[in-house]
Amino acid sequence: MSAESAVQAAYVVAALLFILSLAGLSRHETAKAGNAFGMAGMAVALAATIGLAARSSSGTGVALLACAMVVGAAIGLWRARRVEMTGMPELIAILHSFVGLAAVLVGWNGYLSVEARPDEQTEVPAGLLGIHSAEVVIGVFIGAVTFTGSIVAFLKLSGRIRSNPLMLPGRNLLNLGALAAFVGLTVLFVVGPTLGLLAAVTVLALALGWHLVASIGGGDMPVVVSMLNSYSGWAAAASGFLLDNDLLIVTGALVGSSGAYLSYVMCRAMNRSFLSVIAGGFGNEGATASDVDHGEHREITAEDTAQLLKEATSVVITPGYGMAVAQAQYPVAELTRRLRELGVAVRFGIHPVAGRLPGHMNVLLAEAKVPYDVVLEMDEINDDFPDTSVVLVIGANDTVNPAAIDDPGSPIAGMPVLHVWEAEDVVVFKRSMSTGYAGVQNPLFFRQNTAMLFGDAKERVEDILRAL
Ligand code: NDP
Repeated sequence: MSAESAVQAAYVVAALLFILSLAGLSRHETAKAGNAFGMAGMAVALAATIGLAARSSSGTGVALLACAMVVGAAIGLWRARRVEMTGMPELIAILHSFVGLAAVLVGWNGYLSVEARPDEQTEVPAGLLGIHSAEVVIGVFIGAVTFTGSIVAFLKLSGRIRSNPLMLPGRNLLNLGALAAFVGLTVLFVVGPTLGLLAAVTVLALALGWHLVASIGGGDMPVVVSMLNSYSGWAAAASGFLLDNDLLIVTGALVGSSGAYLSYVMCRAMNRSFLSVIAGGFGNEGATASDVDHGEHREITAEDTAQLLKEATSVVITPGYGMAVAQAQYPVAELTRRLRELGVAVRFGIHPVAGRLPGHMNVLLAEAKVPYDVVLEMDEINDDFPDTSVVLVIGANDTVNPAAIDDPGSPIAGMPVLHVWEAEDVVVFKRSMSTGYAGVQNPLFFRQNTAMLFGDAKERVEDILRAL
């Protein structure tokens, strides 16, 4: 077998391992195996690519490749070891930006080594030059949109900028105008490629990526993260065409289509229109947080909460991002065990976008060894709240906000939420009256049957355990 066919065979094996990885990651029982397939696929792909590079480039080229890999692997290992679970979405967002930047650099390199040297003999036959130019300009466009879009997502998710949507006048026209300009510039570049045209496409795409994600409100960020995941896949596929690398095309298409499907599933779970979110919040005009005076809130102590729990027959716990921040899952698991010993039925209600990652709460509760059978999805538990004695809202806010149902002008209007207020008593654990991720005040806190238990969620649950 020639070296070329060995590399192609390795690419096929790696692509199959990536498909098995995606299949494994779709269910939590097989997720670990899915990860293992993905790592094995990446190892095969890297080995084949290095082998190919070693054959076709000089010693310096291979040494540079090795250096880049060592530096990249060291930074990757260091970040992965340090990252908190709550910091995962922002890490994913910044990693997507690297894929976008890489696609832009590959595109520019393609231009500088082919179109910019019209008099020299290049690898691209004259008849295919137009196709090469189209690949360059499309790759640069998708890459640049992904790059700045991911940077804005990183800044929003890490709280470095506010998560409110940017509302420029005529913003939908701006997006459509940018797309139309891109089509025009692409035609001009294919007919007569010049540095100026490529620079114009790059600047246009950088601005469009920034604007698209800046226009999306905090509540829709889960969809944005998966959408940028999809964009980064298409950016990698575009680079694959330019580099003539079949594995990169296949892998990019897998990431692109699975990311698009995940975005679609999340939009359905949040009752959002897929098209409106990917078009940068299109159709979300005028939805602003209203400054209504909701009245006074009531406070409760940990001791009184313990008393309420002892007298309860059924308790539902709805955790959110605050439980992850406080790392309260261990005392919460202990509280569940103690209440069940006292004969109280305890169950969990999990909102599809609670926390900052799909499945965030399920992972934390599994880590603290809460039995799977008492952890229910939102749709499974939403009808049971009227028969529930006490709901403990532990660090959740947007996912239990009745404004999503009652206030059509709210930025989260239409998003399905947990109907916790239908229970007899609701105790909300948080540190202050501040808003949740979407920046919207929560009328739940001011309802008659709601009491606020202020402080760090972990400390307050431990206080309740002591009082029990
Ligand atoms: P929210 O982010 O709406 O609210 C969390 C609450 O926890 C805050 O109000 C905060 O109040 C409280 N909190 C923070 N730290 C502590 C602590 N140490 N102890 C007690 N309370 C604490 O949470 P939800 O889970 O309800 O909603 C998730 C939001 O995140 C949604 O808007 C969703 O769209 C968005 N999102 C979700 C992603 C996903 O994939 N799941 C990804 C990106 C965004 P205070 O400061 O007063 O303590």
